[in-house]
Amino acid sequence: MTKENCIFCQIVSGKLPAMHIYETPRVVAFLDVLPVQLGHALVVSKSHFDNLLDLPDDLFLEMSQVSRKVAKAFQQVLGAQGFNLVMNNYEVAGQTVFHTHIHVIPRYADDGMRIIPQEKKKYEGEGMAQMGRQLSEALVNLGGG
Ligand code: 5GP
Ligand code: ZN
Repeated sequence: MTKENCIFCQIVSGKLPAMHIYETPRVVAFLDVLPVQLGHALVVSKSHFDNLLDLPDDLFLEMSQVSRKVAKAFQQVLGAQGFNLVMNNYEVAGQTVFHTHIHVIPRYADDGMRIIPQEKKKYEGEGMAQMGRQLSEALVNLGGG
């Protein structure tokens, strides 16, 4: 399944160039053209799904496996001391390419990056317990899917 005008579908089909680093039958990994760290890679499903919520479980698993492999290559080749996996879903979360993908970002001591901001929110009163209960109930009702 491909979508016209989708940059990642065009990269997958070879219509647009990219620095490909790995592929499996249903997943491809290539370097991000505007890396936040050198080596920053994108792990992308070959077929088009807008975001994580559309993605079949087995494909998510394959993308996770490839992401882990890329992270190991970062350790070996780049000497990365850590890595982040990031998935932006929907525009408000920073998604700019609406073809689901996982960012794999190599990390180093004192590289100055922060994926999770230092500034934190605070629950008031029973807020945490209340929210926990609501979420827990919704999760049970959602079942396996
Ligand atoms: P998002 O913001 O949707 O989570 O991430 C999209 C990523 O795709 C960005 O980091 C951006 O730099 C990268 N990107 C956008 N267009 C291209 C492209 O044409 N080629 C490559 N290799 N990466 C791209
Ligand atoms: Zn696409």
